[in-house]
Amino acid sequence: MGGGDNGVMKSIRLHPGKEKSLRRKHPWVFDGAVARGGADSGETVRVESHEGRFLAWAAFSPRSRIRARVWSFDEAQRIDATFFSDRIARSIQARSFFDIRSDGLRLVHGESDGLPGLVVDRYGDVLVAQFTSCGTERWKQVITQALLDHTGLTQLYERSDASVRQLEGLPEVKGWLSGSGSTERVISEHGWRLALDIDRGHKTGFYLDQRENRQRFFQWTRHRRFETVLNCFCYTGGFTVAALAGGAGHVTSVDSSGPALEQARANVRLNALPLDRTDMLDADVNASLRQFLAQGRRFDAIVLDPPKLAPTVAHAERAARAYKDLNRLGLQLLQPGGVLFTFSCSGGISADLFHKIVASAGTDAEVDAFISERMAGAPDHPMTVHFPEGEYLKGLVLVRKY
Ligand code: SAH
Repeated sequence: MGGGDNGVMKSIRLHPGKEKSLRRKHPWVFDGAVARGGADSGETVRVESHEGRFLAWAAFSPRSRIRARVWSFDEAQRIDATFFSDRIARSIQARSFFDIRSDGLRLVHGESDGLPGLVVDRYGDVLVAQFTSCGTERWKQVITQALLDHTGLTQLYERSDASVRQLEGLPEVKGWLSGSGSTERVISEHGWRLALDIDRGHKTGFYLDQRENRQRFFQWTRHRRFETVLNCFCYTGGFTVAALAGGAGHVTSVDSSGPALEQARANVRLNALPLDRTDMLDADVNASLRQFLAQGRRFDAIVLDPPKLAPTVAHAERAARAYKDLNRLGLQLLQPGGVLFTFSCSGGISADLFHKIVASAGTDAEVDAFISERMAGAPDHPMTVHFPEGEYLKGLVLVRKY
């Protein structure tokens, strides 16, 4: 059998003109583009133009607005266990192209690695996978086996408790798919030890995408000898550890999650850094920033790393106001010469829009600042030419003018 029919005869036919994005190798087919056809949840379908010409092999999602996600644009490609094994092998191999200073890294980053709906992180000896589409759900056993084979590991934990599963009509689930035992791990990032829990932590346990930006914050701290640092949305204290390791005089860390702050304290201790030079506040960041301002407190460096405020473009407007507010307060709280590391991890806010929001926050705050650096997600969370939506994390380093 030379491939090509994929053992199925199911197809979806698009409306006239709706094949354009697929011709540019963009991997999504929206519900409005589909004229007719369908399949079971996650089943492979042949995507055809209005005239019936082959466009792609894709996984069908009966309930999602993203009605199909492309596995391959090659008509001769069979979508089978070998296909997944090859894609996963390539994805893992691509990580050696990048300079990653950690044993915690993302091995598969969805669409960017040709595997839409799949995220896989490795923390030392354990793999954590998130299956967020009907297609990856259907192929879960095959994908799990390929991941174990290509890494030589035996432990794989599933964290498919992401709310995006609801859009696919899939229930939220988590638990061991292979192996068992403790869900706690300690990774080594830039020589720091960072503890995490793959069961209780956010996402797959940790924000690996900020790895290089934490390193950059460490370098700035060492260079500028910040006396007072404010780490907003600190989670388990990655930027707090970076600041203390860089010699910061005092770090105030704020998060509204008690367990995350517990872990942050543990991470400071784990690196033999001085806990007496930190405050960990279980509080709402917005309220804390207003309170600090009213108290006349100022900081030499501030990190603003809020959660995803605009998951899609539809949420962008309200999110833009929230980002602007946060950044206005952040800029007002900076000492002259102070440094703001500000981020957005919203797919719905482009780098360009984020820049505009921060600029407009500066105008409102009546604070001028040098835009010293632009930041992005870590290289193991790549974006690709064909899938610009992959650019979700963006950041700016601002230096307040005197
Ligand atoms: N900078 C972190 C990741 C931040 S994730 C790192 O490097 O690991 C975003 C964090 O914001 C989460 O820990 C979440 O608990 C927290 N959070 C969300 N809304 C908040 C709010 N209104 N006030 C304080 N913390 C909040």
